[in-house]
Amino acid sequence: MIRDPQQLFERLQLNPEEHPDLSAALRSFPLRVTEAFVAKMQIGDWEDPLLLQILPQQAEIDVTPGYSDDPLDEASANPIPGLIHKYHGRVLLITSPACAVHCRYCFRRNFPYNDNRPSLADWQQAIDYIASHPEISEVILSGGDPLSLPDDYLASLRDRLAAINHVTTLRLHTRMPLVLPARITETLLDSLEHPRLHTVMVIHSNHANELDTHSEAALLALKHQGVTLLNQSVLLRGINDNADALSALSRRLFACGVLPYYLHVLDKVNGASHFERSDEEAVALAEAMLARLPGYLVPKLVREEPGALSKRPLAL
Ligand SMILES: *Cc1c(COP(=O)(O)O)cnc(C)c1O
Ligand code: SF4
Repeated sequence: MIRDPQQLFERLQLNPEEHPDLSAALRSFPLRVTEAFVAKMQIGDWEDPLLLQILPQQAEIDVTPGYSDDPLDEASANPIPGLIHKYHGRVLLITSPACAVHCRYCFRRNFPYNDNRPSLADWQQAIDYIASHPEISEVILSGGDPLSLPDDYLASLRDRLAAINHVTTLRLHTRMPLVLPARITETLLDSLEHPRLHTVMVIHSNHANELDTHSEAALLALKHQGVTLLNQSVLLRGINDNADALSALSRRLFACGVLPYYLHVLDKVNGASHFERSDEEAVALAEAMLARLPGYLVPKLVREEPGALSKRPLAL
């Protein structure tokens, strides 16, 4: 993992003098990126669509009206530490504060993670909450990145959830198959499967360049294990905000056994306003995808609204 900007610039043969002072941006959200992700970037290209996702920018310290630290008001849907219950029938567990990369547009970049990952014992309150809500059929392991946890930890969480009869689906939200495909091992596959549960993995890829042969192999291994694979992306200025890039992403995902699920407009989190595109532009891009792709390769264009009962589709 690379945490030092100088090391990143050397690796990509970029002249640090061409990039303004980063110290303020780094203080609020440190640089973090895997070697495997850097290996997919173009040498010498400041505009590389993968680099721009993780490169701290001076613009992050700008204060933009309408932006906040908790744009989704998650604090008010947090009845039990580590558990977010906003939507009917499913809950989200913040299983780990750690990620293998720090995405600069992340809506949880300012989330109040404490420094300790919850121990298995700490999950009892969340397990009790789920057990006492028979309408909850799906549990989402999120974070951070849940695959930053060890296999045995994941397996034991899975077993405790599988012991609750009304839970039928285990879902993981992760970037690991893209940023650290070596994490997808045989023992991990064994730790995620359970005869009683459907396993769904929602990966998070924003650009076709992320899906190299290593990621493809990892995803196909998951698919062959019976995991349902979906992708969510964020519409990001300068990274994937054109119909060619979005269509190429959908096609490449499909080749890797993954169907597009959501295309999110940016969540208005402090530090990310330089990635925003307007709703009109987002809708035009969704229309362009519909005009050139089969329906199953067009993700739903959605926004997350505090207090809403689901992600909200933007009207085309
Ligand atoms: C996005 C999200 C979910 C999952 O929503 P789906 O529409 O089922 O993908 C669940 N809980 C929370 C808190 C979420 O933010
Ligand atoms: S939670 Fe997801 S989007 Fe946010 S930094 Fe981690 S991997 Fe990136």
